[in-house]
Amino acid sequence: MSSFDPVRELDMRRDLSDASWKVLLQSDEWDASLAAAADDKRREIYGDEVYLRGLIEFSNYCKNNCYYCGIRAGNQNAVRYRLSKEEILSCCDEGYALGFRTFVLQSGEDPFYTDVLLCEIVSAIRARFPDCAITLSLGEKARESYKAYFDAGANRYLLRHETANDAHYRKLHPDSMSLQNRKRCLYDLKEIGYQVGSGFMVGSPYQTADCLIEDLRFLQALKPDMIGIGPYITHKGTPFAAFPSGSLSLTLRLISILRLLFPYALIPATTALGTIHPQGRELGLKAGANVVMPNLSPVRVRKLYDLYENKICTGEEAAECRGCLERRIAAAGYRAVTAVGDVKFPAARLLPFPERNADRRI
Ligand code: SF4
Repeated sequence: MSSFDPVRELDMRRDLSDASWKVLLQSDEWDASLAAAADDKRREIYGDEVYLRGLIEFSNYCKNNCYYCGIRAGNQNAVRYRLSKEEILSCCDEGYALGFRTFVLQSGEDPFYTDVLLCEIVSAIRARFPDCAITLSLGEKARESYKAYFDAGANRYLLRHETANDAHYRKLHPDSMSLQNRKRCLYDLKEIGYQVGSGFMVGSPYQTADCLIEDLRFLQALKPDMIGIGPYITHKGTPFAAFPSGSLSLTLRLISILRLLFPYALIPATTALGTIHPQGRELGLKAGANVVMPNLSPVRVRKLYDLYENKICTGEEAAECRGCLERRIAAAGYRAVTAVGDVKFPAARLLPFPERNADRRI
């Protein structure tokens, strides 16, 4: 019998050699022990708590053309919408009454929302809900813009790097976008003081095990507070319409790996996971995730924010969504909590530049 035990090694060292990563990523042999070790780790740090984030998708306009995305600028069939500041605030009112203490404002890269307008929106939320976290997910911006939103009261920022391999990035994005700028944004956000979230799609077109290893290595350097991964899901209005969606098992395997690599991290069981499998989010929690992000957007616009096809939870009112998720979380053996849900052990967050931190591990 082989003495090779990558789960134990990962748990102890929080790292593997490239060869061991490859074996672990490409086999289902260790999935059960990975999930058990990841669940132990999350319970050690976060107990059975699952944090709820109220997601407000306030605009599906985007100036970019990422080849995998259903709301890309080039998709002429997308029906576009924007929410006003008042509509966004009323989503927050509803969310607050339901117990949400984090609001996630997400949109495509939509120039309609100038920095002045975004700061007005953030300031208004901050003034009305001083006990809540404000998370932004607005894509790539100038450093000064990120700083202005932070000064207006935003605390967290989500920006998935999507892939850390330059050649792979080129296959997923047009020439107007660059991995270098995406990384610049992430380090700017850290330096400014945000709790930063990054992450990647699992099973995106042209992704290889080597790409995934680079993703893990990039995250090891960045040390994000939040790590969001979800399966790539095909959308017919994109150049990748013929590519298959990513797999549930590999996504779950990677959630467990991320929990062992980053014990302190906030890791969502994503809606995309729930879209590819009816129990996807519950399985994500059992694999090591500790956050869910129910939708607070008005029901009339929910279906229109279709980054990918067949997205779940587009028909229910926020209160129904919350109740449904709470039951699902309890059935999986965890507890949905009303809490701002900051990352634990923020002192473990490292200085922004990887070269300064190369030898630091929490
Ligand atoms: S992935 Fe984001 S930046 Fe790219 S087209 Fe979609 S909404 Fe725009």
